[in-house]
Amino acid sequence: QKAEWAKLKDEPSVTADQKHVELVANIGTPDDVDGVLRNGGEGVGLYRTEFLYMGKSSLPTEDEQYDAYKEVLEGVGSDKPVVVRTLDIGGDKELDYLDLPKELNPFLGFRAIRFCLERDDIFRTQLRALLRASVHGNLKIMFPMVATISEFKQAKAILLEEKENLKQEGIEVSENIEVGIMVEIPSTAVIAKQFAKEVDFFSIGTNDLIQYTMAADRMNEKVSYLYQPYHPAILNLVNNVIEAAHAEGKWAGMCGEMAGDPVAIPILLGLGLDEFSMSATSILPARSQLLKLSKDEIASHKDEILSKSTAEEVVEFVKEITES
Ligand code: PEP
Ligand code: MG
Repeated sequence: QKAEWAKLKDEPSVTADQKHVELVANIGTPDDVDGVLRNGGEGVGLYRTEFLYMGKSSLPTEDEQYDAYKEVLEGVGSDKPVVVRTLDIGGDKELDYLDLPKELNPFLGFRAIRFCLERDDIFRTQLRALLRASVHGNLKIMFPMVATISEFKQAKAILLEEKENLKQEGIEVSENIEVGIMVEIPSTAVIAKQFAKEVDFFSIGTNDLIQYTMAADRMNEKVSYLYQPYHPAILNLVNNVIEAAHAEGKWAGMCGEMAGDPVAIPILLGLGLDEFSMSATSILPARSQLLKLSKDEIASHKDEILSKSTAEEVVEFVKEITES
């Protein structure tokens, strides 16, 4: 099986009925790029930038960040997309040196874009580093934990301000940077149609979307039985996001663990997901799996999949239609 996967390294990701999807990787540091290329990744769908801020005693400088972003963009290659997520601190990710107040519900608290909009000094430094690095590849910028249209508009306005500032300073910036959001809060998935008019793309963060939709802490084993990726509530939200994107001519990806799950892949393919971002080692198995799946066949059962009452029913039904 390993040898069969290796043969697919430089092949496109196509289904049995010749439909293309994009298989990209989640990374945390520039060192991870090697693994992406060795595993035939078509780019990076999620660069978690938190690691630049963690394990040290002060904030990373603009230049430090620029170097890391440039290294990733150049390493991946200028034709391949790199989706960089802006700082998603808070919740399970803490930064000692920021001395943030302890919260009763950190997952529902002051984190990610909420933090960045208040500490816009920190946010602007990251955005400047990204904008400067943008000339070295195919950069896309994505904001985490967006719950309202207003948050997105504020974040994008700050990005455009910093872009203008850099240009005034005579620094070159790419004019083709797509700006999108992670969809990981149910409210955002529900009004994806409205968001789709504003953003360039969506990337569905199922790790958080599942915990918020099912009200089940993703770290708490006592409620892990509720953490159900194939639950019809999750699939209906995912479908809503994909349909909303496509209605506006935008693309929808997924960067939560679910995107690399062999049980979920046929379902997501049938719902029309455009981009699957996963750990690098899952890419070749996924490419191999796609070769045997017919997207149109699964899509023709979409309404029935979305109408199931339980995750078990979904899984059983999808197994039937993909194995027949
Ligand atoms: C997610 O929530 O699905 C996601 C990809 O982000 P993280 O796991 O970093 O919260
Ligand atoms: Mg998340």
